[in-house]
Amino acid sequence: MVEASKFWFEKSCSDSDCHTLIHPWTRTCSNATSSMLMSCIKGSYKFYAMVYIIQILMRGKKLTKEDILEQFKLYLKSGIFGLTVGSSFVTLNCIFRKLFFSQFTYYTTVLLPCTISGAAVYFEPPYRRVMVANLFVNLVFEYWIRTLEMKGWLRRSASRETLIFMLGSSLFFYLMRLDRDNKKRTPLFWFFTPPRVSKEVGEPMDGIKGRSDACPHKGPCVNYILKGAAQLFGVGCAMSMLRTIIPRILTPAKALKSLKLSHLKLGVFFGGYIGIYRLIVCLLCRSTGRDSALHAVPAGFLAGAALRASPSLPIALAPLTSSLQILGSWGYQKGLIPEQWPLVELVYCICQGILFHARVMHEDACPRYIINLMHTVTSNKADEIQGAFIQKILAHGGGM
Ligand SMILES: [Zn+2]
Ligand SMILES: [Zn+2]
Repeated sequence: MVEASKFWFEKSCSDSDCHTLIHPWTRTCSNATSSMLMSCIKGSYKFYAMVYIIQILMRGKKLTKEDILEQFKLYLKSGIFGLTVGSSFVTLNCIFRKLFFSQFTYYTTVLLPCTISGAAVYFEPPYRRVMVANLFVNLVFEYWIRTLEMKGWLRRSASRETLIFMLGSSLFFYLMRLDRDNKKRTPLFWFFTPPRVSKEVGEPMDGIKGRSDACPHKGPCVNYILKGAAQLFGVGCAMSMLRTIIPRILTPAKALKSLKLSHLKLGVFFGGYIGIYRLIVCLLCRSTGRDSALHAVPAGFLAGAALRASPSLPIALAPLTSSLQILGSWGYQKGLIPEQWPLVELVYCICQGILFHARVMHEDACPRYIINLMHTVTSNKADEIQGAFIQKILAHGGGM
């Protein structure tokens, strides 16, 4: 694929009219704005329909009438967020081009308008803003690592990703257990939330029977460990099977045939992750007779090894990103970050600018998630725009 460097982008695109570069499907800017808006209304509501269905399924609880209404309202708002971000790119560029800039430049064409349009995140309620900011920070880390790898400064491997995940999980579980005692808990999204540190103290004990008085759970340790592992094993397998079956839902026979043993890998990761974590915490509580947030350090580290069953760069980085999120929220609570600073929203805007810029200029290093997201939300318009950029650069003999 073609890499749009600053040099080649400006050499081949800066003198273009906005209809040859930004909206190649129509000549007039007003047509471009309305057609982009229509595409994004369709795309955004389609995208968020999937997001909300998955979220509701993941909660695994029965929905009351009020829940459904509440979720539907949130869905409408999320849709406005998506379609505003998606459709404003074209309009902002046409306006900028007419009012401020006489040429398209490397930084003002995608990075600037997409950083500004990130402000649409205000359509989302605060806890969802934290969630999307977390996701986008993680994607920026992924983008940077991919960039370093492409430049040849870094080599990725499954074992390195696993090690990063182990270190990250160790830190993250420790911070999560400390954060449990906070009155204003940070909204976190993780496979499972570790229980509050138990205040009970007991005698050190041997064997595997029963539970220690210090254990942060009810019932025998073995049940606690196996139940968690089995549940998440099921969730992991179900997720990876659904991913295969849903696109083939109209041909059930083919769908069933496409299931393979490898779909168990995600289940092994999920189940192993919680199983090892609980096992280590219980062993430490039983042998020392007391619980401590510090138990999460070795437990999180060893549990992280489960990622080896199903390596993934975005997941490997996720605990580090979420640790930063906890530290950030402590910063707010301790007054280190003034409360009126919209840090979450600013971080989101900057990340969105960086990632959408990467989508257009450095497709090879851009995380898959962003490419799919922009494709869906803009109903393929993002790909058309990027195609026009690349055509121009190739026509000028660039792109090497
Ligand atoms: Zn225009
Ligand atoms: Zn236990």
